[in-house]
Parts: sequence; C-alpha cells; structure tokens
Amino acid sequence: MTMVLPSGPGYKIPPVLFWGGLMKKDDVTCPRCGAGFRRLELTSGSGSKGEYRCPVCETTLEQFGGDKLVAYRLTIQPSIRGLKAG
Ligand SMILES: [Zn+2]
Repeated sequence: MTMVLPSGPGYKIPPVLFWGGLMKKDDVTCPRCGAGFRRLELTSGSGSKGEYRCPVCETTLEQFGGDKLVAYRLTIQPSIRGLKAG
C-alpha cells in the first residue's frame, strides 16, 4: 500500500496513520541526570522549530529544525542527587 501524505502547516495527522508505522520510536536517556524518554518522530509531519530540554535538569536533548514532528515523553524518573534540593 502506497500512501502519500501531504505536509504543511495546518495538516492534521489522522491517528491511524500516526500510529500506523510512519513513526520512528527511540528511547533517549538524558546524559546529565539519567532521565529516560520515549522519543517519537513523525518524518512526514511538520513540527515547530525549537529545542527539547530535559524537564529535570534542563539539558538540551535535541534541537528541532521544524521539518519533522518530534515528541518526547518522560518515561523514567531519574534518581536526583544534588541537582535540586527537595
Ligand atoms: Zn536531565
């Protein structure tokens, strides 16, 4: 089955396509605090420019060019010692 996906601002991704194998999945570990993330990349989507920072220690994990849609989800809470009090 061949599918051609339009891309561009305002294009909404049908969930069935989103979860249907057009996505790359990776597991990412923050090099600083050890937090684990599930990274989803939709190569045929269009995201926004910017960067993703670790919500725990604010290390930049990736910079986005806006040509693909990337989402991070925190999956493993790090054991924090000395990074933040409390
Ligand atoms: Zn971190």
